[in-house]
Amino acid sequence: MSDCLFCKIIGGEIPGKFVYQDDELVVLQDINPQAPMHVLVIPRRHIASLNDLAAGDDALVGSMLRRAAALAKDHGYDQRGYRAVFNTNREAGQTVFHIHLHVLAGRGLTWPPG
Ligand code: AMP
Ligand code: ZN
Repeated sequence: MSDCLFCKIIGGEIPGKFVYQDDELVVLQDINPQAPMHVLVIPRRHIASLNDLAAGDDALVGSMLRRAAALAKDHGYDQRGYRAVFNTNREAGQTVFHIHLHVLAGRGLTWPPG
């Protein structure tokens, strides 16, 4: 998608700090981290939000969640704890309309969230 920030970063038009890449996913360091670890697991293919997922995307979403767990483990947070979050639309605070899974760790994360 031509005017999507994450498509531009994935396409190399805008710089980003990639911490992992494979043929279906990239993981970016969040530019405004909210915890000592804050990365974004992003599919290469443009999907605007959770509302746009189809049954055929089930394996992709599973890969995103398993990647989140692998990243938490790599950073030593699998036992301490971490949070994996999809924000969807306005009231949840979605600002980039290309699906991404936030993975946060490294501090006590309050519940309920703000
Ligand atoms: P959301 O508000 O759930 O749509 O999350 C968008 C996330 O993208 C926010 O946490 C932003 O800090 C992050 N973000 C915005 N621009 C960039 C960028 N150029 N590189 C990396 N992360 C970004
Ligand atoms: Zn996109």
